[in-house]
Amino acid sequence: MVISDYREKKSFMAEQKYIALIDCDSFFVSCERKLNRELEGKAVCVTSGRRGCVIARSREAKQMGIAMGLPLFMAEKDFPGCLYIDANHANYGEISGEVMSVLREISPNVEVYSIDEAFVDLTGLSKLYKMNYYDLAKYIREQIWERVHIPVSIGVSRSKALAKLASDKAKNTDDHICIAGKCGITKLLKHTEIDEVWGIGRRLGPKLKGHGIRTAYDYIQKNDVWLKSRFGKLGLELKYELMGNLINKVSNEYKPPKSIMDSRAFENFTSDLNYIKNELMVHIHAVCRKLRKAGCKCGMISVMLRTKDFREFYNKADLPLPTNFEFEISDVAFPLLEEIFDPKTVYRSVGINLENFNPVTNEQLQLFAQEENPRKEKNEKLAESLDKLEAKFGHNIVRTGFTNKEVPAKQEFITHSGK
Ligand SMILES: [Mg+2]
Repeated sequence: MVISDYREKKSFMAEQKYIALIDCDSFFVSCERKLNRELEGKAVCVTSGRRGCVIARSREAKQMGIAMGLPLFMAEKDFPGCLYIDANHANYGEISGEVMSVLREISPNVEVYSIDEAFVDLTGLSKLYKMNYYDLAKYIREQIWERVHIPVSIGVSRSKALAKLASDKAKNTDDHICIAGKCGITKLLKHTEIDEVWGIGRRLGPKLKGHGIRTAYDYIQKNDVWLKSRFGKLGLELKYELMGNLINKVSNEYKPPKSIMDSRAFENFTSDLNYIKNELMVHIHAVCRKLRKAGCKCGMISVMLRTKDFREFYNKADLPLPTNFEFEISDVAFPLLEEIFDPKTVYRSVGINLENFNPVTNEQLQLFAQEENPRKEKNEKLAESLDKLEAKFGHNIVRTGFTNKEVPAKQEFITHSGK
């Protein structure tokens, strides 16, 4: 070992890391309870629309035995005592933003991991706040509850992988906090099934069990060469993360999303192309709004059509020019939809997915862009005013106009209602 390596190792060892994972409890249900306090203490499920399925459950709903993904019509039949609410993702996104800003006030180093989870590097903050890490976690919980009215579980440990495990354990404790320090790590690993480990999941879990690795503790007993040869660099890094080394640092750098999608079950099954186009336009507007908020343009889109009996059809295309504007996307999306649409088939939902993102600021200077796309400037101004209006008056105050005169009144295009 050369001296510089040794020094690095020494300083690394001296600096004990404290990484927290803050995970909102039953997030969508908690959001609904924040908006309607009467739901407190009741069995509540959030669903993906009237023709959809259960996507979030309150503790009371879980205790009734309602499974995730259960179709709504079955849930209503088998568990009539539960309340079922249609998801409102725009609200959830806003509330998530409120939770994250409370966290950012407490620590400068916050990595938003998903809509309801964030890693926070708490290292050194115990001195700043003059409290131990347990009290600090308690303080974070209280702050989020008092200011946003969302309950959270917090796991604190030496690495992201351990913090994630700790937060899972925290969910089942009275105080919703689990601190896995030096002495707690071994116990935590021994009590964690291998498929509960972050990144292992259902696919790798059985494979590892086949090698006699039943718990997270069994995993760290395996030697480096064996792990690397079978599971690559990431597999080896996971071992060190589980042993309490921070390999993946908490990064507050903004990472643009890899894809944005929006889809929802129709109110009634339908075979009406115009109705489906209208619904698709609503989703295009939702994804464009998110894309503009992320400061990106997309280069590829795909349209998804799902039939009444859950068959799915996809159609994908590159865009002629990167965009984040509704009508430029619908110009490509509608022909894609028409290609996979069959008038003799009954459909339950339509969706859109955007990919290949580029930050707006990195946009290449398109020498002929103005000629190729004379509407560019107009569209950008229109989109900007649309976003401003919505920011002021709420989502969907403006329905992006797919105002096709041939679109019949709503009742008329419900051709297969209730079947
Ligand atoms: Mg959660």
